[in-house]
Amino acid sequence: MTTLGTASAEPGEIDTGRLEVGETRDGSSFGLPVAVINGAEPGKTLYMQAASDGDELNGVGVISRVVPRLDPAELSGTILIVGIVNYHAFQVAEHRNPIDDTKMNRAYPGNENGTSSERIAAATFDVGTRADLILDLHQGSTSRMIDEVRVRCGKRHRLYEDCLELAKAFDCGYVLDQKGPDGQLARAAPDEGVPTVDPELGGCVGWDEESIRKGVDGVFNVLTHYGFLDGTFELTRQTRANSFEQYGAPGGGLVRLTKDLGDRVSRDEVLFELTTPFGEPKDSVTADTDGILWRTRRLPQVASGEYVCSVGTDVDSY
Ligand SMILES: [Zn+2]
Repeated sequence: MTTLGTASAEPGEIDTGRLEVGETRDGSSFGLPVAVINGAEPGKTLYMQAASDGDELNGVGVISRVVPRLDPAELSGTILIVGIVNYHAFQVAEHRNPIDDTKMNRAYPGNENGTSSERIAAATFDVGTRADLILDLHQGSTSRMIDEVRVRCGKRHRLYEDCLELAKAFDCGYVLDQKGPDGQLARAAPDEGVPTVDPELGGCVGWDEESIRKGVDGVFNVLTHYGFLDGTFELTRQTRANSFEQYGAPGGGLVRLTKDLGDRVSRDEVLFELTTPFGEPKDSVTADTDGILWRTRRLPQVASGEYVCSVGTDVDSY
């Protein structure tokens, strides 16, 4: 019997339930939606979670499509899922938890007696560290971003190669390999011995079906590669950026990008032009180094210094 919150499944069974983490402002207890898929055969344990950032819904799209396709009779091992992590932010479709104005993915490993976000982080960290592998499904919030997988443990970590392999198995085609800030699940869980990556499934308001499809494929690739499902998955080379450069607007106006997401950019090549509301050219901004256009703002209007785009740099493949 495998139990997660109120969900319990014998080998060959699936169950859903709630993982209680506290009370809302009216004193009602609340719980995160959870699922346990207990394979008929023994094997590894995978933990997946979505909506750690409350406006990042593609991961919720992935899980809601993956679970109905999983047959525990055909599974070796166990899948533990928290379908919506940032309960309070999800309710209001915001990025950060409105109860403590905190970003969940800076609160790991959490604290069961701490702030609202730290309590949720602690509860989900307890689940994640029961597993052999973790997928923490994110996206570039509501900005526009390529589909990629982030390896956040840092190149000197003892689980670095394991995290790289997990990113490769997810097979988005692009990997960001850069040590993340403190408090990320993908940094805290490797310290407990669990290889962890953040699939970053595009960026949109609501759902992006193309990014969700890549996420669904990624989960099944991982399940096949690590022996949860029969079959073989051929690992292929991933294009890897090892850092980022961000570009801001030199003045106010309307931005016109000259490249598409995923395009190669060369040093001194124009990244975007800035015009007045009447289309009069004001300025243009060039790339400082070679790279790949990785992420851009969604809205065309900018103020001086406002974020416009990011270029993934130090690009290689592995
Ligand atoms: Zn996120």
